[in-house]
Amino acid sequence: MTKTYDALVIGGGHNGLVCAFYLARAGKRVRVLERRHVVGGAAVTEEFHPGFRNSTASYTVSLLRPQVIADMKLHDHGYRVAERRISNFLPFADSYLKLGGGMERTAAEFARFSPADAAAYPAYDAALSRVAGVLRDLTLQSPPRAGGGLAALASAARQGWPLARLDLPAQRDLLEVFTRSAREFLDGWFEDDRVKSAFAFDAVVGNFAGVSTPGSAYVLLHHVFGEVNGKPGAWGHAIGGMGAITQAMARACEAAGVEISLENPVAQVLVDGGTARGVRLESGEEIAAPIVAANVGPALLYRQLVAPGDLDADFARRIRGYKTGSGTFRMNVALSELPDFSVLPGKALAEHHTAGIVIAPGLDYMDRAFDDAKALGWSREPIVEITIPSTVDDSLAPPGCHVASLFCQQFAPQLPDGRSWDDCREDVADLIVDTVTAHAPNFKRAVIARQIHSPLDLERKFGLIGGDIFHGHMSLDQLWAARPVLGHGDYRSPIKGLYMCGSGTHPGGGVTGAPGHNAARAILADRPLIRKLLRS
Ligand SMILES: Cc1cc2nc3c(=O)[nH]c(=O)nc-3n(C[C@H](O)[C@H](O)[C@H](O)COP(=O)(O)OP(=O)(O)OC[C@H]3O[C@@H](n4cnc5c(N)ncnc54)[C@H](O)[C@@H]3O)c2cc1C
Repeated sequence: MTKTYDALVIGGGHNGLVCAFYLARAGKRVRVLERRHVVGGAAVTEEFHPGFRNSTASYTVSLLRPQVIADMKLHDHGYRVAERRISNFLPFADSYLKLGGGMERTAAEFARFSPADAAAYPAYDAALSRVAGVLRDLTLQSPPRAGGGLAALASAARQGWPLARLDLPAQRDLLEVFTRSAREFLDGWFEDDRVKSAFAFDAVVGNFAGVSTPGSAYVLLHHVFGEVNGKPGAWGHAIGGMGAITQAMARACEAAGVEISLENPVAQVLVDGGTARGVRLESGEEIAAPIVAANVGPALLYRQLVAPGDLDADFARRIRGYKTGSGTFRMNVALSELPDFSVLPGKALAEHHTAGIVIAPGLDYMDRAFDDAKALGWSREPIVEITIPSTVDDSLAPPGCHVASLFCQQFAPQLPDGRSWDDCREDVADLIVDTVTAHAPNFKRAVIARQIHSPLDLERKFGLIGGDIFHGHMSLDQLWAARPVLGHGDYRSPIKGLYMCGSGTHPGGGVTGAPGHNAARAILADRPLIRKLLRS
């Protein structure tokens, strides 16, 4: 007899798994259909050279919501996070900055450049923490459905209440964060460019924009709402790489009764009279279910998996205009030894090797990288973050060796002059290695092997349209109730029974589990009577 399902989830990325878990826990028969040979989407670990494993794409953890960790009992399924000894290390031409290890220590570092900035830091940190706290509280709430009647009004009022209760300075900070560029925002707090650059890097991560682009301050904030092992704002390394998180999630799903099917790419969402009826796989097999939850991003879902005739013209036009392409180039390298930085010499493991090492010396450097990328495709002086997870996790590389993630920003999603990333990826990888080598002269020599992901590779391998690491720009017009399109910010698509549960919905990208959690709640709330009231 053919098996029947209450719900199908298209994609076994972490949000698809989270959504499937909550649905199964509520008694639904759920099947996850994943295109690749492995679950996890952008959160996977791979052996990229014999004996060397690393997180392939996403590489560091902070944003995963504690409630999701607890509900899925991820610790029982092997989830463990190692903290970095310090958070960041920024080498400059003839000096460096270390961040982390406590407020006093970071302030003392800033004081080497500017006593005024050191004095300003505690207030900055408190202000950002307060605003991040508001954002954190909103992550597991569904945005109101614009045009959704009384229920939506009540939901908007409920979610707006914590903002209204903030004191005036905090409301001003919030306004600045949502509307200003990272440069304007940081100029309001600090005077030294090196100190500002320590914070500005977060604003360009996955954001094809300059630090002077209005709205870039928000992306900075998006990266600080997380926590590691109960420490707000901290980032850490999942032991076994990011794939260990999604493998733990898959085990939680299976324990809850979810069926996971690998190498089962979905070709089309089947729609009949405006209602989803199931999916057709690329193999031609059709699987019926009254609920379909799409973990793939909005651009992939609506431009490729839903037939054009199943969308109304206005929605289809807006999805065509949905902005996707984060300008990110991602490499993994196998290393024979640790980088020996000119400004902080030493190849023996030291605290700065455990940090996020950021090569982005100054706000002008970052703006130049964006301007170059718009004109040329990438910057001659790229922005590179290096993390070396093997410094805190010895399961990733042979003894004495290391693996490093190179996370590089401002690489145009589409190259000018019709060039293909396939023709340039090796040259760009060389440029990135040279950029690190300019600060750590032994780096190039230490590279044993490398794995390269251009924006096009990210699209082909993970289904990230335009290589967008967040399933779409995190700009004001594509956030909260407007993510992906105003009127569908509540995880419900324009097609009855079709839901969205990936990073293209609130609260956006990152390994948070929040879209999956919130989408499951929306699905479970949609019993016929409730659906009718919500749409009234
Ligand atoms: C290079 C890079 C670095 C990043 N770094 C970090 C980081 O350090 N920390 C962090 O928190 N976030 C990071 N992010 C962002 C974060 O990884 C993503 O936002 C998040 O993993 C997306 O999860 P998701 O479940 O929403 O979607 P995805 O992980 O994209 O999952 C979607 C799934 O759908 C599958 N799929 C696609 N098409 C089909 C189809 N037709 N049929 C069936 N299945 C299909 C895909 O294979 C995939 O498994 C990074 C992302 C990238 C790409």
